[in-house]
Amino acid sequence: MTVVGIDDTDSRERGMCTTYVATQVAQRLRTAESATVSSVLLVRLNPAVEYKTRGNAALAIHTDCDPGRAFALARDRLETLAETGDERTNPGLVVADATPEDAPVPDDVCRFSQAAIRDHLEIADAVDLLERRGYRSWHAGDGRGRIGALAAIGAWSALEEWTYEYISYREPDRWGTPREVDHESVFAAADAGYPAVWDTVDRGEDEAVCVPHTPGPILHGIRGDDPDAVRSVAADIESEPVAESRLFVTNQGTDAHLQRGSIGTVEDGRAYRLEGRVASEPETRRGGHVFVDLESPTDAADDGAPARERLPCAAFEPTKRFRDRVRALRVGDRVTACGEVSRGTLKLEKFAVRDLVSSERVTPTCTDCGRTMESAGRDQGYRCRDCGTQAAEKATRRLERDLEPGWYEVPPCARRHIAKPLVRGGFDAPTHPER
Ligand code: ATP
Repeated sequence: MTVVGIDDTDSRERGMCTTYVATQVAQRLRTAESATVSSVLLVRLNPAVEYKTRGNAALAIHTDCDPGRAFALARDRLETLAETGDERTNPGLVVADATPEDAPVPDDVCRFSQAAIRDHLEIADAVDLLERRGYRSWHAGDGRGRIGALAAIGAWSALEEWTYEYISYREPDRWGTPREVDHESVFAAADAGYPAVWDTVDRGEDEAVCVPHTPGPILHGIRGDDPDAVRSVAADIESEPVAESRLFVTNQGTDAHLQRGSIGTVEDGRAYRLEGRVASEPETRRGGHVFVDLESPTDAADDGAPARERLPCAAFEPTKRFRDRVRALRVGDRVTACGEVSRGTLKLEKFAVRDLVSSERVTPTCTDCGRTMESAGRDQGYRCRDCGTQAAEKATRRLERDLEPGWYEVPPCARRHIAKPLVRGGFDAPTHPER
């Protein structure tokens, strides 16, 4: 069995898409080599990597073709299709002689895949491992694409959770022109497929998120937990002609990028799941971005312990209604926050409310006239200036909260490919899914 890994073929300006290149390679393997393609993996790597064009995708094709012949064929397709006119496009191809089911790829390749999803790697890391394993490889430009290509090869063994995307492609002469997709039919198909099929549309924003706006070859991509369900939703969408389509097995929607961490030790360019306590009132800044600080959830508050570590968290404007959830947080709430850390700020993807502050201490009101009392002096409690009534200390007022315990998430229009939608289930608290 042979695994063909490819990456970095597309350009933000010139278009192309590595899923399309993989589709072409898979098709040629079938037609020119009479080979069987058992699956094509669409693997999302660390979304914080600066070199990415858009979603940091790498592809792996599992086939029974002879590795040498698969290598020659894939190289030919990459040389023809990769947008190497863009100096930021640095295609890579790696072919491994491995059997994903019977003889899993070696541990060091699995670890490389894990690192590519959660961490940052150097081109030299890929080159060293390629030499050690003796895999065939080809590259153009600076060869960075070999990182993703090799990571895609290890992904099947490195990851446990998989979802599906059924991608339909446009006829090549339409690439770069506006897509003709019937909006109503997308929403109807999305409703019929939900919840096995998710992130097809954003109902709050009335947006068909399955239809990209980029100049590339994709007409729409339908994501979900079940291969038949994603196929069926795609079939129900009325649109311009579909030139070809393919089912991808993918780590999209799995949160594979998140690692456990603590507020004091996070690093830029990685994504975390963190426990914390809200340490500042949420603040809406210019552009509609909402910021709130989290601090470590230690209980030693006023015992002279050093100041707790703080981490600013942000819900940016494109996260739309999610910002209302963040604005509803109050100092003292306990949460679990998930997202990527960039320039010392956690970009929130989802959070779980663990414990809500349910009361606040306020200046007491006069029981006779209902007016707010005033301080009667240092350590002397409060007094109503008009009635003379007194209170020894602040009163406790119950807080009406707009949040409930459980998970909240960004809406589908703001979802990162790799982030797990709440509707998929498996969370450790009640969920409040967006759709
Ligand atoms: P698209 O989603 O449109 O296919 P892309 O966002 O996948 O594009 P690429 O063009 O593949 O972006 O560019 C990402 C580059 O970064 C690739 O060369 C890949 O090998 C490299 N890369 C991926 N993950 C890492 C990582 N963890 N560390 C260092 N480099 C990485």
